[in-house]
Amino acid sequence: MRFISTRGGMAPAGFTDVLLSGLAPDGGLAVPESIPPVSRAQLEQWRSMTYSELAAEVIGLYATDIPAEDLSALTAAAYGPEHFPDPVVPVHRLDEVAGGLELVGLSEGPTMAFKDLAMQFLGQAIPYVLNRNGQVLNILGATSGDTGSAAEHAFRGQKGVAVFMLSPQGRMSDVQRAQMYSLDEPNIHNIAVDGVFDDCQNLVKALNNDASFKATHAIGAVNSINIGRIAAQIVYYVWAWLRSTDALEEELRSDYEVDVAVPSGNFGNIYAGHLARSMGVPIRRLILATNENNVLEEFFSTGVYRPRGRAETLATSSPSMDISKASNLERFIWQLLGPEEFTQRWPELEAEGALDLADHLDRLNTEFGFVSGSSSHADRLAAIGRVHSAADRLIDPHTADGVTVALRFMEPDFPTLVMETAKAAKFGETVTEALGRAQPDPPEITKLLALPQHVDTIANDEAPLRALIEANALHA
Ligand SMILES: *Cc1c(COP(=O)(O)O)cnc(C)c1O
Repeated sequence: MRFISTRGGMAPAGFTDVLLSGLAPDGGLAVPESIPPVSRAQLEQWRSMTYSELAAEVIGLYATDIPAEDLSALTAAAYGPEHFPDPVVPVHRLDEVAGGLELVGLSEGPTMAFKDLAMQFLGQAIPYVLNRNGQVLNILGATSGDTGSAAEHAFRGQKGVAVFMLSPQGRMSDVQRAQMYSLDEPNIHNIAVDGVFDDCQNLVKALNNDASFKATHAIGAVNSINIGRIAAQIVYYVWAWLRSTDALEEELRSDYEVDVAVPSGNFGNIYAGHLARSMGVPIRRLILATNENNVLEEFFSTGVYRPRGRAETLATSSPSMDISKASNLERFIWQLLGPEEFTQRWPELEAEGALDLADHLDRLNTEFGFVSGSSSHADRLAAIGRVHSAADRLIDPHTADGVTVALRFMEPDFPTLVMETAKAAKFGETVTEALGRAQPDPPEITKLLALPQHVDTIANDEAPLRALIEANALHA
């Protein structure tokens, strides 16, 4: 399998080449040259596998430049008992809420959000590739919560990688802060910036624009456009279909389609679902859910993609979906238009601030199965309340956006899977508001909050950040 750039300016490269490289040299995103088909017979052969075995098979269709036995060792380490319970991804029926509704538990990992599933794979695959190439990597990132902590937990103690993670001082939840700052590994550097999240991002950008600093200190990123994260996310769509059909008689299975609802922000999670569907996993519709920041809902219902400025981005109670520009959407639009039309039309986005693809609107639904909806704070609270009273289960505000939009589109008794993107305990404040009373913290949260915390606090200024990196970066 080879990867090319959406913008057409990169020689075809292997998985391990694009794994470390963020944006392609031409500013585009790496996409697979073709989509590997998976037959129903193949799906049946995968049915009895453990999650890590399945991950090696599915990721292996893309990572053809990693020998199969090495890949199996990487996924066994990523999804082993040190990081995940068994099963790694539990699937629960929620028929009490609505007949056919199911919840796919993607948040069982160390930071209680679905980002662990992809990041734990990178935490094994990146050190493996670095070691093979005799390289090191200093990951520099900014986080408002979920991504940074998933990255730190994935790379803690790993050889050849250090993490420098900027976070806005005093602006994360207690749980998010404790998940990050309680880590005490020498290769993990928590840096609290006296500023807001945008200040953190601007500092990261400033250092990335200094090409010589970047090269000298082998600075890189593991953001949501990373192809390894996308490949690892395809696995749970396959897994969820297999588990949803486990109870069926064999002859009923192969025609059994499901709808999947995905709480979305950067279009990373659902893009993996789209690849799974394109590969042949029997997914009928992909139900895209946004919160009040509905850039994606707008695109899939009008055909117009109009990224927004910071001033237009709202701070909501499902904060990990507060995005104004969906960084992975370029990959989908490339496939929608094909390389030639993409090259002609993509520049409209830069020139006019919006890309009008209304002439392809029908295909979004008929060919690609997308429907979309957005959810409000009140919807979120209602969904948390409904699932709790009907099924005695707590869901987090992001998952509640997924449930809200799923219920809006759901056909009675049609199997409809909602991706659970975080645990309720991580966003206790909104859950408390929804239920009218505080839930007791689970014991692992109480323990986490009591641990000593490790963080360097700096002014909102490049100089102290450069000094910290110069003093602590790894060198080959
Ligand atoms: C990151 C995140 C999302 C959005 O996922 P995308 O891949 O950016 O679309 C949704 N929910 C939670 C809890 C997240 O952390």
